[in-house]
Amino acid sequence: MPKKSLGCIGLLIAATKWLPVLVTCTIFTWGWYAYTFQLVLFSMELLVQKILCLIIFNILYIFALWSYLQTISTPHGRIPIKFFLTPEISEELAKASSDQKRDDILAYVVKRNDLPVSCRTYSGGIRYCEKCNLIKPDRCHHCSICGICVLKMDHHCPWINNCVSFTNYKFFVLFLGYTFALCLFVAATTFPYFLRFWIPPESLGIDKSNLPNSNGTDTMPKPNYDIGQMLSNNGESSVPFSTKFHILFLFFVSGMLSFGVMFLFCYHIFLLLNNRSTLESFRPPLMTYGPDKNAFNLGRRENLMQLFGRSKLLWLVPIYTTEGSGLSYDLRPQLGNADEEVRQELLNHRNHNQPPNQGPQQPYSAIGPIPRNDGDTEV
Ligand code: ZN
Ligand code: ZN
Repeated sequence: MPKKSLGCIGLLIAATKWLPVLVTCTIFTWGWYAYTFQLVLFSMELLVQKILCLIIFNILYIFALWSYLQTISTPHGRIPIKFFLTPEISEELAKASSDQKRDDILAYVVKRNDLPVSCRTYSGGIRYCEKCNLIKPDRCHHCSICGICVLKMDHHCPWINNCVSFTNYKFFVLFLGYTFALCLFVAATTFPYFLRFWIPPESLGIDKSNLPNSNGTDTMPKPNYDIGQMLSNNGESSVPFSTKFHILFLFFVSGMLSFGVMFLFCYHIFLLLNNRSTLESFRPPLMTYGPDKNAFNLGRRENLMQLFGRSKLLWLVPIYTTEGSGLSYDLRPQLGNADEEVRQELLNHRNHNQPPNQGPQQPYSAIGPIPRNDGDTEV
């Protein structure tokens, strides 16, 4: 294929990857316009209500958008040069006649460069990325979409066209939290107007003649137009159709988003309290003593501090306060008398995978049959 058409296809693919981001930004922009103008300025009557809604909405909106932009734009953490293999080592690795030899070469590099790696492959070897030609730091995975090894990779998110990883995880969690609060607020404040504009009063058990009008003395907020007329089906409504549709979409989009984002937000709160990434929740990290989904769990308080930093004032502000370098992580105390959960897990693995009357095995084979491939090389 000619180089020019290859370049065009590459550009097209790159542009396609940004489409979800464009959709998200469009929803954000339209949402601000529809809420501010169509709901607050055109439909609400009470000044106090207008001011309160605008203040709360804009605070949540600014923080949600700020978190979103931070999630998109924060670069991945850099992996130091000492994790990369030199051309000589790569050559030796390519020549290695067995997996054992290969592991020995990698173990030599780890020792020589004093690399802080505790995670292992299924076969007990050092984790290595052939594409990036480096020894993977703990919790680092290769993202096939970004094309690089990403520190503490959580998952690749198409909605930000980026990986959620060590450097932007705080922003991602804040984005979910603020978006959930924003959508919930918008859905709650839009709901009464959705009912007024779209549900006939008869179906709500309301007598049309009792509906508030612009001269009434009711304390409920009233729009500037006659609701009875507006709800009639003869198309003579004084409420512009555009306003009615903006309110309708505002209510449904915010309602559905708040529902969907709530689950994701709760799941990530659970993960961060347990110091676990999404990938690790599906496949526990393999440590020298076996798989341990709680290997990095230092307790809820410490886990929170690790992600959000020591200053609680900055926890909810989308600025970078995450602790550490992303290259190495404190491990919880290793298997001891109190570590019943890990012990039980290892026992379960052994009972499940190991046939009876088998002789003594290597530490990794005690956990189960050893697949030959690395098992965590690429996501
Ligand atoms: Zn890689
Ligand atoms: Zn990625």
